[in-house]
Amino acid sequence: MGDKALELLNVTKVYRMGDSVVHALKGVSLEIFAGEMVSIMGPSGCGKSTLLHIAGCLDKPTSGIVRIGGKDVMSLDDGQLARIRNRHIGFVFQSFNLLPHESALNNVIVPIQYSGLSRKQGLEAAKKALRAVGLGDRMHHRPNELSGGQRQRVAIARAIVNEPTIILADEPTGALDWQSGREVMGILQELNRQGRTIVVVTHDRDIARYAQRIVELKDGKVVADRKIDSVIVPAHELERAQRDAQVKPGLQICVKCNFANRPQAKFCSNCGFSLHVTPRQSSTIMRRMLGLMITCPHCRTDNRPFAKYCINCGEPMENALKAG
Ligand code: ADP
Ligand code: MG
Repeated sequence: MGDKALELLNVTKVYRMGDSVVHALKGVSLEIFAGEMVSIMGPSGCGKSTLLHIAGCLDKPTSGIVRIGGKDVMSLDDGQLARIRNRHIGFVFQSFNLLPHESALNNVIVPIQYSGLSRKQGLEAAKKALRAVGLGDRMHHRPNELSGGQRQRVAIARAIVNEPTIILADEPTGALDWQSGREVMGILQELNRQGRTIVVVTHDRDIARYAQRIVELKDGKVVADRKIDSVIVPAHELERAQRDAQVKPGLQICVKCNFANRPQAKFCSNCGFSLHVTPRQSSTIMRRMLGLMITCPHCRTDNRPFAKYCINCGEPMENALKAG
């Protein structure tokens, strides 16, 4: 095997909230090599997202060692971690995908604005990333003018725009129908063929099988790790999916769950979230996707970007997004 892209050694994570203690990871050791495509699979609540956030430096473990590209990241401060994320890691999430009022191009360019490139270089990089996910002809479409699969492709373009070596995807097909999910896995396979290391977290066995290796997590521990013959999405199917994508006009995309709602809807019919997005909410979404700290609306304490509850007052951090 070649170089190690990502290494976790005996990683634990304990969440404490008042009197309750959750042992989300109980000593996970995992090596992921450069150029691999790996699925991390397991039931809801077994620690998959926690693992991915720690592997991507969005959160710190309680104990253990994390190495990215051979470099120990445990002793780095938040600023140094932000730089590692920006340069080496691209994130794709099930939700909090896109800024609803911005074009695909403007969504993809966001991470570039923090990397010191000029606007012109940024535009070129964003166009290149959109072409790489097969959206060369949809750059000026807004999320509500794109199909579900195409919206997730924009999110993937945003994840690769800084040319990271590792892509971490948390349930990337969770909000998609079967065919769009398959299309997204096909795109990830293509990016893997081009040399990127890809880690996909999923609770869905069929989705896990698009990778070359499946790591199974149960109750905060690795219980299986094996190579498989991956299911391959043929190129002609991806092209056809691209051509046939039908988009009903005027749909409203929920920023929380990515569901497409009727044009008149005020609240998402899937998750109940408000469909009217304020600038403050947009800023929270942006901070999350850039891996920056988000502010608790209740006590104003800064929290890690994907914290579920405020570390100071215990309020659900979802309120940071609700607070318009
Ligand atoms: P999965 O992604 O596999 O569904 P998670 O990693 O999200 O699992 O969660 C693992 C466990 O840790 C769950 O019991 C969850 O409730 C808990 N947990 C996750 N994040 C937090 C947090 N920020 N604060 C408190 N508990 C958390
Ligand atoms: Mg999860």
